[in-house]
Amino acid sequence: MTEYYGKTVYKGIAMGPALVHRNGKTQVKRTKIEDTDMELARLETAGMKARKQLQNLYDKALQEVGQANAAIFEVHQMMLEDEDYLESIRNMVETEKVNAEYAVAVTGDNFSEMFAAMDDDYMKARAADVKDISERLIKNLSGQEEIDFSKINPSVIVADDLSPSETVQMDKSKILAFVTVHGSTNSHTAILARMMNIPALIGVPMDLENIRTGMDVIVDGVQGKVIFEPEEQEKERARGQIEEEQEKIQLLQTLKGKENITKDGRKINIYANIGSVGDVGYALENDAGGIGLFRSEFLYLGRNDFPTEEEQFQAYKQVLQMMAGKKVIIRTLDIGADKQADYFELGKEDNPAMGYRAIRICLKQPDIFKTQLRALLRASVYGNLSVMYPMITDVCEVEQIYKIVDEAVQELETKGIPYKIPEQGIMIETPAAVMVSDELAEHVDFFSIGTNDLTQYTLAIDRQNERLDDFYNPHHKAILRMIELVVKNAHKAGKWAGICGELGADPELTEAFIRMGVDELSVAPSMILKLRKSVREMD
Ligand code: PEP
Ligand code: MG
Repeated sequence: MTEYYGKTVYKGIAMGPALVHRNGKTQVKRTKIEDTDMELARLETAGMKARKQLQNLYDKALQEVGQANAAIFEVHQMMLEDEDYLESIRNMVETEKVNAEYAVAVTGDNFSEMFAAMDDDYMKARAADVKDISERLIKNLSGQEEIDFSKINPSVIVADDLSPSETVQMDKSKILAFVTVHGSTNSHTAILARMMNIPALIGVPMDLENIRTGMDVIVDGVQGKVIFEPEEQEKERARGQIEEEQEKIQLLQTLKGKENITKDGRKINIYANIGSVGDVGYALENDAGGIGLFRSEFLYLGRNDFPTEEEQFQAYKQVLQMMAGKKVIIRTLDIGADKQADYFELGKEDNPAMGYRAIRICLKQPDIFKTQLRALLRASVYGNLSVMYPMITDVCEVEQIYKIVDEAVQELETKGIPYKIPEQGIMIETPAAVMVSDELAEHVDFFSIGTNDLTQYTLAIDRQNERLDDFYNPHHKAILRMIELVVKNAHKAGKWAGICGELGADPELTEAFIRMGVDELSVAPSMILKLRKSVREMD
């Protein structure tokens, strides 16, 4: 039995088999070999396996996302047959008598640098592909299995780190818990864990080399503890705690259908944060009054090309239809910083959180933005849609947005496609937006305060940096005063204001928010009934 402590992201208890996910670059050691023929035979077997894997990925992608998106796997298959690349690896094994893993790693780096230095954009982009196939070959050589997350049995995912694009691809019903060595409590991976109701621990100093897939694990999010290969006594205790938790959840179910109203009659809307169409199920299950934040950028992650207008329209329409007339607030594309998709080609930045992201990309690349806006305008016909724009700092950005919305409207008019203009609001997540919220309120229909970014920008603390978790204090007076000011300015202009950052779900602040006049709290679905309980007990 080995136990470690980490930081809790979601306070639940889970027990099940570990699934070790080794992501990122595999560490390769250089070793001398005697039998070059055997090494070349290993290389051949790893290559054959890689070709088969790529064919399977191609077939799956073809079915699920179409020919254009599947084509990348064909490119990888072709690169894997490239004689220059293969010859360079074989040559290194034969002349330097080194292991195949090392020869593949060095050749992969050399070829990728060569592609990156080319002028032609297409060839430049091949740098990432050659790294990818080299990594695949190395994994096959060292016997590491690639995990198809859609086919796993219920497991506790144990990883070094997880990116939002990896997390969105997972079948949430099969994940009992997450445990990672790295990660910050405010990252989007942590937010996803909370949204999915999944017990999660991060910053756990475990040695992944000693943890095998299939080992029994208990994740105790309440104590921030993970136990590998627990004794029977520990397992028995965990079973009891899981049962107790289930009972509490059952008790909360009795609040379904009831109002979010204090004893003295103050009402507040409690909505759900979601990241995919699939999450609407969690929102409905927990009796959400609406969707207060649909992070639409998750539709753009974990794929090889932009989602089309039609794909987006179908997704938005489905959410609106499932919510059957309840308010659905969809936030436009908030990509960048930790939410990366290679095909955006955003490039490396020194300060990505303060970089080319969110509305800035949409204003600079209006074609991407307009595709999403057309999909939203069309979907709006099917329910009670509101659209909100992220990372706003000034009124002039809102004016530019409205111009682009007008263009999207004109395009639909010209083609005679039905649409409806939704309510339009903005996120208040920069200190600049707080300070000019009186002016902004005149131009928009509502505010939704994004406390995650507002805290990062106000306290000058990178929310991704795990070393700063202890300094990240959303209860800081500066943040609470800002929230109060924003609500006051919204109300002065006759507009409503809500909170959709993680702070909205903090039960210690619910009463303070109600006193400030906050009109709506949008939280992880699992928090809705808990907040309803505390609102109803408040006087
Ligand atoms: C926020 O910043 O508070 C927010 C809700 O947006 P995100 O966490 O997706 O950046
Ligand atoms: Mg934000």
